[in-house]
Amino acid sequence: IKPQIEQTKAEACGKDEMAKIKERSGMGHLQPMLRLAASLIRHQCSVTLITSHPIVSSAESQLVSNFLSAFPQVNEKKITLTPIDPITVNTTDPYSIQWATICHSAHLFSPILSSLSPPLSFVVTDITLLSSVIEITENLRLPNYILSISSARMFSLVSSFPSIPSSIPKTSIPPPLLDSNSYFAKNFSDASKSIKRFDGVLINSFEGLEKECFEMLAAAELTDGLPPAFPLGPFLPLPFEGGSSSSSSPFMKWLDNQKESSVVFASFGSKYPMSKEQIKELGNGLILSGYKFLWVVRTKFVEKQEERDDLDEIVGHQVMNQVKNSNAFVVKEWVDQWRILSHKAVGLFLSHCGWNSVVETSWHGIPVLGWPHWGDHMIAGEVMEAAGWGVCRKNWGWGINNYLVEGEEIGSKIKEIMKDQTVRMKAKRMGEVAKKTTEAGGRCDDVMKKLLQSLKKN
Ligand code: UDP
Ligand code: UDP
Repeated sequence: IKPQIEQTKAEACGKDEMAKIKERSGMGHLQPMLRLAASLIRHQCSVTLITSHPIVSSAESQLVSNFLSAFPQVNEKKITLTPIDPITVNTTDPYSIQWATICHSAHLFSPILSSLSPPLSFVVTDITLLSSVIEITENLRLPNYILSISSARMFSLVSSFPSIPSSIPKTSIPPPLLDSNSYFAKNFSDASKSIKRFDGVLINSFEGLEKECFEMLAAAELTDGLPPAFPLGPFLPLPFEGGSSSSSSPFMKWLDNQKESSVVFASFGSKYPMSKEQIKELGNGLILSGYKFLWVVRTKFVEKQEERDDLDEIVGHQVMNQVKNSNAFVVKEWVDQWRILSHKAVGLFLSHCGWNSVVETSWHGIPVLGWPHWGDHMIAGEVMEAAGWGVCRKNWGWGINNYLVEGEEIGSKIKEIMKDQTVRMKAKRMGEVAKKTTEAGGRCDDVMKKLLQSLKKN
């Protein structure tokens, strides 16, 4: 779900310029799909990966190519997309255009799926492509599983859409979904209608995180004919995902010199920029909190190679003074988030509540101050808050109506959570549960085995 705000429109770029997109944008769907593929390989499956070209960002191309080098046994099949007129999607956001283009080119999957040798046992389809792909796999009599890269809670919304489950407040629904004429609402409705035709849904979540929701989905399987849900998360990162940042990165060395659980880590995903004014307020807030901080700044929706603003100008002198005094570290590049979250110095994650970030943080057992932006972030924040290991500031409304959250408020909320021992203890416990789920022979392995057995029965 993409924000429809002025800043986004102004900073997005046309398709002919896509090749120039340098920043590691658009990883939210690709990364979990590849993590799942790696897990299938570990369970002795042979994998074919269908990639759509041209790929939007160089980050995505890089990740796909790293994946293929690490798993040379994977069979890559490339689809050359047929360009569409962006007017039909009514957006200039390259990711939305790419999404619509893939849907439009879905007929190209058919000859690939039918010609593979040995023949396919099953297909995994990203949740954004459901209604475009299901007819094709039904015609080929291929079992098809949904990959839901968001929470079980979000999946319960998608599956009942346009109705909204009573457990989800209307204020948490992304505004484009409430406009029945929007591309998003239409796609969600179509997806929702097609869900029962799928054989199962693979979710990057686990019962320890969303127990009630998985119980609800199991009940809906019996009463409404929803496909079975497989809690396969938390998905773990692949060793080559971290890009260039390593344990010798300057900020990792800086973290090495900080006390345990003393640093606030602030980062807001791979796509969303903050307004210049909000960046200044956030900088103020981080300083006012009195804690040391590591801050990943993003100012552009899609960062282009030639655009490199001066950090000093973006965050201001006060923040840069903190950096000089070694009280803070500010970066404006892709970081290895998993590695940072693994560091014992990190005591709080100030996050936009992208689902991947929420799941990763649960595994590391770190308290979260959630500042949701758009899309499924509010719903993800609710999952995190219900599990008790963080607080989600839904009323901060980042990106909505140009609402500015003041530094004082940010600073005092950071202080409050950093001092909250109950939240810290719950986070630690969540981390223990998550790690147990992913250890060899744990629940993730069980669920994967159950999935593969159910396929053998088909
Ligand atoms: N989503 C969906 N169907 C769609 C598009 C999105 O179910 O057709 C869900 C999906 O679970 C995803 C969430 O909505 O995690 C947000 O979508 P997207 O990743 O495009 O937005 P972002 O993560 O950038 O906010
Ligand atoms: N990520 C990262 N470094 C960054 C920004 C993001 O490693 O500088 C990773 C993060 O760990 C997560 C993914 O990119 O796995 C972002 O997904 P999420 O759902 O949290 O947010 P989105 O980018 O889709 O808004």
